[in-house]
Amino acid sequence: MRATPRRIIVAMAFIAVFASLVVAQEPGLKSITYRLSMSRPMSHLFEVSILIELPDELKDKPLQVQMGRWAPGRYGVFDFAKNVQEVKAVSEGATRPVTRVNDQTWSVSPLGATGLTVSYKVFGNDLSGTFSQLDTRHANYNGGSIFMYVVGHKPDPVKLEINAPAGWKVINGRTERLGQNEWQFPNWDIMIDTPTEIAPDWTLDNFDVDGKKYHVMVHSFGPEGGKRPALVKDIEKIVRAEVGMWGAPEFQEYTFLIHFAADDHSGDGMEHLTSTQIIQPGALGDPGTYENTLGTVAHEFFHVWNVKRLRPQELGPWDFTRPLATRGLWIAEGFTNYYGRLMLHRAGIWDEQQFLGREAETIRGIESAPGSRLMSAEESSLSAPFIDGSPRAQTTNLENTAISYYPKGELIGMVMDLLLRGRTKGKLSLDDVMRAMYEEFYVKSPNSSYYLRGRGYQTEDLERVASQRSGVDFSDFFKRYVRDVEVLPYDEAFAYVGLRLVKTQAKEPFNAGLSIQFAGAPIIENVRNNSPAENAGLEAGDQIVSLGGKEATPDWLKTLARYKTGDSVPMIVKRDRQTIRTNVVLGQPERFDYAIQEKADATAEQKALRAAWLKG
Ligand SMILES: [Zn+2]
Ligand SMILES: [Zn+2]
Repeated sequence: MRATPRRIIVAMAFIAVFASLVVAQEPGLKSITYRLSMSRPMSHLFEVSILIELPDELKDKPLQVQMGRWAPGRYGVFDFAKNVQEVKAVSEGATRPVTRVNDQTWSVSPLGATGLTVSYKVFGNDLSGTFSQLDTRHANYNGGSIFMYVVGHKPDPVKLEINAPAGWKVINGRTERLGQNEWQFPNWDIMIDTPTEIAPDWTLDNFDVDGKKYHVMVHSFGPEGGKRPALVKDIEKIVRAEVGMWGAPEFQEYTFLIHFAADDHSGDGMEHLTSTQIIQPGALGDPGTYENTLGTVAHEFFHVWNVKRLRPQELGPWDFTRPLATRGLWIAEGFTNYYGRLMLHRAGIWDEQQFLGREAETIRGIESAPGSRLMSAEESSLSAPFIDGSPRAQTTNLENTAISYYPKGELIGMVMDLLLRGRTKGKLSLDDVMRAMYEEFYVKSPNSSYYLRGRGYQTEDLERVASQRSGVDFSDFFKRYVRDVEVLPYDEAFAYVGLRLVKTQAKEPFNAGLSIQFAGAPIIENVRNNSPAENAGLEAGDQIVSLGGKEATPDWLKTLARYKTGDSVPMIVKRDRQTIRTNVVLGQPERFDYAIQEKADATAEQKALRAAWLKG
């Protein structure tokens, strides 16, 4: 249809309104430069200066700077501002007034100056992909936990200059040459997406895959046992397997920043656009650390596509004044869990039994969690601010009511993959659906914001793409297993690939409804709702003095082996200054083990579908 003159007038009116909206917006700042120093590593205080060049229109207006409540990738609310101290402002050698506005915001008055420097210190002593650490060994930071943004100017380009202690080397996922200590970023969000390591003694290994460069930075705080060269080779296998599924990644270079903390408690993995931060609690030479590192690598590298680029609509740009609300983390994190494990198999690191055994273990965890029947995958995603590493000062009932979108999403991903393969007779897989989503939302959609290419999806979009591509209606699947809490159709899914899920009663012939933690003394860790332990008046935190007339030991279930359903077990516990005597009347067994096994009558067609699934 051709536009009539009247339509043109209407269109022009819209343009005029739009133009006036643009004019009404605050003018951009002339420049924003972050300067990061660390003159006293033993103090754990990062020194941050933000040098701001203001246009004339803004030199008399107060400016606000703000510390985020949380940072992308970890959705617990941490309030990073609690570690900020000594916020000051100067202009041309004279101090400028700084007022704290609320828990995360400071207001600064330029008083007519066009050049303003806001400075502060921020304490960081956590080795983590979420927080930051400065000590005499190194500086390792996650930008969201140390860099304030200028309110209203997150989209502005920013420069970063790092003043490292003498002899300390700087590296991050945007390092173009060794010795580099200045970066230009298109906006603040990309700057904080670039975690950085600064230390005298990290090592660097490199490899290429299909013309892209990969770097493996390792900082070890314990013996490596000579395992680093093999680790780098296995990381390369994982990269090849994942690139094999998705196709060439968008970047030219990618950096794995890996710490072996050797403190037995620091552990994390955090995804970024061109890097990942991985922290393992052990030393590389310790038993199990090598294997755990590869598991984290497979998960985090998968995020290059799933979550960092193909993302739920709410994942960037973010509002850091309130917790995140998205229904999509079961896809973003859960599918990444699923593929991380599948890729260990496709990369040749796990055999079929290891992969299937791990999935059976995830099924056991989900199906034995009481929260599985109360909280859906989407509700779990919306609960992320409560369950994703959040500080918990208040006693909660989340152990009984919540599930994690990681394992739940992992199982939804696996079952959906098998249903797609089975119902289309091998014509389509979840791999195809994920690639189609990546094309539609990341590669082909116009940019929806300043932050990143493309736009985000809603969970309904996955439902639509899976249904359209496969010709199989997935609306019922989403209704029952994603938005409601029904048990996933494991039997149908596994049957397509000639496998079956075998459920057997776990060893104990009764149910007590409690778990015990042995931290010095035996302490009740959790009491299930409506369980024999709850009926007996037991509570989490009670210290067990005796169980069935005996001292509680780590193999307490063996102590109870002589009892059966219906028996009454005497218990004595200490709660604060009270000694409580009670009896737990044991209930019907509720715990089951799961195994994924070959079907005796598996057909050649089913075996071929399984091979296609496992090999990719
Ligand atoms: Zn380090
Ligand atoms: Zn993840």
